[in-house]
Amino acid sequence: MSKEKKELTIEDLPGVGAATAEKLRESGFNDLLSIAVASSSELVEVAGVGESAARKMINMARDNLQMDFESGEELLKRAERIERIKTGSAELDRLVGGGIETGTITEAYGSYGSSKTQLGFQLAINVQLPKDKGGLDSGVVFLDTESTFRVDRIKQLAEAAGLNYKDVLKNIKVVRCFNSDHQMLLAEKINDLITKERFPVRLIVVDSLISLFRSEYLGRGMLSERQQKLNKHIHTLQKLADMYNIAVYVTNQVMAKPDTFFGDPTEAVGGHIVSHGCNIRLYLRKGKKGTRVAKLVDSSALPEGEAAFVITEHGIKDVE
Ligand code: ADP
Ligand code: MG
Repeated sequence: MSKEKKELTIEDLPGVGAATAEKLRESGFNDLLSIAVASSSELVEVAGVGESAARKMINMARDNLQMDFESGEELLKRAERIERIKTGSAELDRLVGGGIETGTITEAYGSYGSSKTQLGFQLAINVQLPKDKGGLDSGVVFLDTESTFRVDRIKQLAEAAGLNYKDVLKNIKVVRCFNSDHQMLLAEKINDLITKERFPVRLIVVDSLISLFRSEYLGRGMLSERQQKLNKHIHTLQKLADMYNIAVYVTNQVMAKPDTFFGDPTEAVGGHIVSHGCNIRLYLRKGKKGTRVAKLVDSSALPEGEAAFVITEHGIKDVE
């Protein structure tokens, strides 16, 4: 149905004349999708429009892209093909509905040492296990933006899982990303890896999703350009997840919320584009006695809750 509609441009949005359109385009908001996933404050800043005008633009862009609606049949089809990768902790698996799911982007954010990378390593091992052992009998692409990939740790985890570590390493395509453009390009090339090289990818790890973007696009003036690029990158990942039924696991950093006096002082960076783009969000933190605690954050499909687990020499496990 949507295909028969005339493709709208940003000028078709309410309150967007030539001058506003130009400002939006200069900041990288050149199509409806970029508006639909923007936050109203971003649009206020780059286009100089009022808050309510910005919200109207966003709502119309979303309506037009039918972002908030999917037919029951489509949802059922999507649900039926979900497969899961076990994490090593039954508690954590339960929290996320049975394991990290395919067709979906799962985001883990938390401070330094909260186990974001370790969970990525564990999934890179576990996805290689046979299906009856909690894996998908498949390979992994690991985009490493922080140089934290460790072969010796992979060896340790592989052997603990009863796998030959050389075989395991062959099934992990690790790519070191040098800057955010390189990271975006590498993600786009995963398609060729699957179709041309026939590498069986069922898991993509991006550790971390946003660190390079953050260090390159500094200051308020570059915020919208950064968000635009990040948005494109997340869409590339989502498309791969959809097309090949891949589980995408991304890590994210946290920042202190300056205006918080009660409750948790940290939130994920990346704003609306990341929170909208990642379907399942986990907040990881250090718990008592060396444990780690995962909390499920704003998931529409899963009950809220927390799970405690530990990181051992043999990998992620339940608390004894
Ligand atoms: P993040 O990526 O969130 O900064 P990591 O995933 O790197 O954090 O987690 C680091 C933690 O993992 C360390 O603090 C340590 O407790 C634990 N860890 C790493 N390797 C091992 C190991 N071989 N044995 C036990 N714990 C480990
Ligand atoms: Mg890390």
